[in-house]
Amino acid sequence: MDYLDMTLTEVLDALNAGEVTSQTLVKLCFDKIKQTEELNALNSTYFDMAMARAKELDERRANGQKLGALGGVPVVLKDNINLIGTKTTCASKFLQNFVSPYNATVAQKLIDADAIVIGKANMDEFAMGSSNENSAFGPVKNPVDTTRVPGGSSGGSAATVAAKQCFASLGTDTGGSIREPSSFCGVVGIKPTYGRVSRYGVVAFASSLDQVGPITRSVKDNALMLNVLAGQDPMDMTSSNQPVEDFTSKLDAGVKGIKIGVAKQFFTDALSSEVRQSLETALDWYKQNGAEIVEVDLPSLDTALAVYYILSSAEAASNLARFDGVKYGVRANQYDDVVDLYFKSRTQGFGKEVKRRIMLGNYVLSSGYYDAFYRKAKRVQKVIRNEFTNALQNCDVLISPTTANPAFKLGEKTNDHVAMYLTDIFTVPINIAGVPALSIPCGKNSEGLPIGMQIIGKHFDEATIYQVANAFEQSHKEDK
Ligand code: GLN
Repeated sequence: MDYLDMTLTEVLDALNAGEVTSQTLVKLCFDKIKQTEELNALNSTYFDMAMARAKELDERRANGQKLGALGGVPVVLKDNINLIGTKTTCASKFLQNFVSPYNATVAQKLIDADAIVIGKANMDEFAMGSSNENSAFGPVKNPVDTTRVPGGSSGGSAATVAAKQCFASLGTDTGGSIREPSSFCGVVGIKPTYGRVSRYGVVAFASSLDQVGPITRSVKDNALMLNVLAGQDPMDMTSSNQPVEDFTSKLDAGVKGIKIGVAKQFFTDALSSEVRQSLETALDWYKQNGAEIVEVDLPSLDTALAVYYILSSAEAASNLARFDGVKYGVRANQYDDVVDLYFKSRTQGFGKEVKRRIMLGNYVLSSGYYDAFYRKAKRVQKVIRNEFTNALQNCDVLISPTTANPAFKLGEKTNDHVAMYLTDIFTVPINIAGVPALSIPCGKNSEGLPIGMQIIGKHFDEATIYQVANAFEQSHKEDK
């Protein structure tokens, strides 16, 4: 078997059995990266660094040392995650030469678990987008069909895993940026509960919504990754002190007696018939295997997108104020005074979508509009949160489509911002509610494009999501 066809779990077994070395794996990954270069999935790669680390890990293993949970496996970070001495560009011209002065906690945790970071993935600039077409370094192509987008903003992170350039990657998700690309590329991605994973050293977009999470080729791989990433961090005061359980512990528990909530608000006319069909087939499968399907109500679901664009843009405008051409990133060559320096640096450094969000954010925060927009959005957020909490009191998980349609064509929505924003209609409410949700492949449409199913859990109950997802994945392996 080609090692690159293996899941992370399988390749760990092969490494531990001495069948393959990390040096071989790193070489195979780089060969694949070269062969699939046209995808533009990666913004940077570190061959020499990765090989040196693989050698060290191979030696440690050969000497009988027990390696960490990800011992010797090549992984990729999204390009908004700091890794000391490497570029962290956020796919922005503004940061094209910015070098990380320290490690993000998630990067450090991967290193401590003996993973090998081989590169950083392309993304929408500052994680704003749903198609990866907002990258200053060009769009990413979907490995399943290169005329289509991989989704965004973690499009590179999903594409690199789907194209088998590495065994797992990290993405970030503020409104769907892990789940939507995972769904479009046919891989597994989770947005953990808000507060589950530290964001220290991850460039902020909307701090009350951002979460880091893993993208993988299997559910078990995903749970293994989250085991490494989760936990409180003194450097991120929003990280939670909830105990971290072993997310693999319930993987094989099956779905007998599991209650699955279905809300009609997720099954709107916007759904393509093939997505609806796939979801219905999946729900039937769950029923046949002993799960109970219950109807739940999320009456305010359709307000979530408006709430999201007010809150996330307001926070983005504040977070991005630090990019002034003085402390970070590019500085305009010529300017008259300090105000002109800020103005020109920001005008030249940021792309169109980022400017749109900053303007929107400053508008909703400005005096006179604050109450009408920002405060109101915060109030509606509470309503949405309560609806999710109530719905999840009557069931173990909720199931919905991840997106209404499979991956769209490159360029198809670039001139229609509202159509682009609507792509996230089913993923955004999850961030607004702060609950965890995973996207898992649940079939293909007639053109062979992957369809994603979203499994939503209670706060800090990722383990049950993995249980429900793994049962489905195990019995649908042949469909892949
Ligand atoms: N597509 C959404 C946006 O552009 C979500 C992005 C994200 O989750 N980072 O805001």
